[in-house]
Amino acid sequence: MGAHPVPAANEVGCASDEPIATLIRHWFPLWTPPAGNARWLKTRCPFHDEAHASASISYEYQAFRCHGCGVKGDIIGLIREREELAFGAAQRRAEEILGGSYKPVPRESARVTRRRAFGEPRTVGSERAGPGRQVPPWLR
Ligand SMILES: [Zn+2]
Repeated sequence: MGAHPVPAANEVGCASDEPIATLIRHWFPLWTPPAGNARWLKTRCPFHDEAHASASISYEYQAFRCHGCGVKGDIIGLIREREELAFGAAQRRAEEILGGSYKPVPRESARVTRRRAFGEPRTVGSERAGPGRQVPPWLR
């Protein structure tokens, strides 16, 4: 009984487990993801050099935006911008970088017809970014 210990996703200290944080740390290993429960958390922007926090990150939306240099996007958006990839290639990059912690964000476009490309979907432990998740309007 009392089976597997499930890590509390909201706990301070788990921020670096967030896919969006993992992605940014893949590019900027020295960047420290902010912890907290707010929808948007202030952080220093790793994409440009700055002394003050002018960027925000959201674990709820799995997105990042910077008011200083203008970098913003969700996981795929950031990969596309940073590595100059098309959408499909960026999805593959996300899987490479994030492994099982990355789940494609369902887009409401009707042209998601290539889902068999990656083989079986992986089973992921953290399910808190549930099916109710949507791309916020400011990311479109
Ligand atoms: Zn910036």
